[in-house]
Amino acid sequence: MKARILSIIFSLFIFISISAQPQPNYGPNGFCFTPRGEFRMLVVFVGYGDNDTLLPDSMISNWPASQPFPTDVMQGKVFYTDYSQFNDSIDPVNDRENISRWFYEQSNKTFKLIADTIRVNIQGDPYTRVWSVPAVLQELSKLHQSNHRFNWEDYDKRQNNPLFKNDYSAYNPDNEVDYLAIIYRNHRNQNEVHASTGLRLNNTTDTLDGYTFENVPLFIQNRGATKVWNLFQHEVGHHLISIGEYGVHL
Ligand SMILES: [Zn+2]
Repeated sequence: MKARILSIIFSLFIFISISAQPQPNYGPNGFCFTPRGEFRMLVVFVGYGDNDTLLPDSMISNWPASQPFPTDVMQGKVFYTDYSQFNDSIDPVNDRENISRWFYEQSNKTFKLIADTIRVNIQGDPYTRVWSVPAVLQELSKLHQSNHRFNWEDYDKRQNNPLFKNDYSAYNPDNEVDYLAIIYRNHRNQNEVHASTGLRLNNTTDTLDGYTFENVPLFIQNRGATKVWNLFQHEVGHHLISIGEYGVHL
């Protein structure tokens, strides 16, 4: 009997302990976006116009100055550009380091991330220029206004930043671009590749073409010709599901 009472007390203790745990964040809703459904991302590749040639191509072999985008991006090896590509069987060459395919397989085929790539040039010398998101946004706005080659609404299909709480995979535009990746051909004369995410343009209160940017989640990378694949998974993992620094910091 004593054992039975102890057992009940112990069970009660366990129950209370479990009940007292704070509710964990619900990871599947994501923090910066909900990794479910269709998601079209804008990836902006930023160069420096004629000043690109100041950097020898040997320094950035995967993104020579003559090309608007890195070679593997132009070959379709980094992002899918159309949802129909998810119906194809895995291509051992083109899908090997493909971000769209990676998310698709990792999500048990529930998340279809595709990306449009666009090139802009900003003023400055790639050896000294510090990255500037507002300068990039201004260039995008010029493209929108000149010939509608680029439209903000194509990249605003959802409400931003579910913060783990809500499923924001359903369409619900909020006049903010859903996610913005900005990849600079170079950023000052650094030999290392840097990237970060989790940034938000909190100090950018400008409205461009009816869109605001305060709550747009960002991925930013310098020296964009190398390791887009590795850095994107790593950095977006931090912001998407609070993943820690596992393994080598690529
Ligand atoms: Zn990290």
